Amino acid sequence: MNNAFLVLCPTEPGWSPPDDQSLEHLLQSTQLIGEPFRGERTYLVGDRFLELIAFMGCSPDINFEPGENDQQFCFIRLITDAASIEFHSGDHTHAPRCPQCRAAVDDWRKRIGTWLDDSNENPWICESCKHESAPWQFNWRKSAGFGRCFIEINNIYPREAMPQQALLDTLNSHYGANWHYFYQY
Ligand SMILES: [Zn+2]
Repeated sequence: MNNAFLVLCPTEPGWSPPDDQSLEHLLQSTQLIGEPFRGERTYLVGDRFLELIAFMGCSPDINFEPGENDQQFCFIRLITDAASIEFHSGDHTHAPRCPQCRAAVDDWRKRIGTWLDDSNENPWICESCKHESAPWQFNWRKSAGFGRCFIEINNIYPREAMPQQALLDTLNSHYGANWHYFYQY
C-alpha cells in the first residue's frame, strides 16, 4: 500500500483562506504543525499533535521524525489555494451515495473525469430518483473530498485516528467556515 492520509478540509469546497499564510500561522499557534521541512509547505507534527488528533489504538505505532524511509513517518502538508475545486480520492474510495435516495453512483470515476474536464460545471443527476446536486453533496462516506484547501496528515489510515472536535472547532471559529475530514488511501 502506498501513502495514506487523514485530510481536513472546509465543508464548502470553493472556500480558501483569506491569504496564503493564515492557515500556517493558525496551525502553528495551535501546535498541530511544527517546523517546516523539505519546503513545499510540509511540516513536522507540532507539540500538541497528539492532543488534537485522537488515535484509536492504545499505543500508536507511528513515527513522528524522518527516519531512513521517510514515507513511513507522520508529517503534514498544507494546500491553501488551489486554482479550482480539486477532487482528492484514493484506490479505496467508496462509490458515493445519492443524498436523497441513497442509491450508489457506480460510474463515479467516469463522472468525476467529465466533471473535472468541464471545469466543475455540471451537477450530478441520480439515476434512481433524478435528484440533482453537486458531486460533493453525495455521500462519499469520508473516503474522498473536494476543495481548494486541504490539511493532509500523512501516513494515517482509516480508523487509526481522527481529528478531535476541538481542532475542528478552532478552524470553524477562526474562519467562520465549517470543516470536516476524510481518509484518502
Ligand atoms: Zn437518488
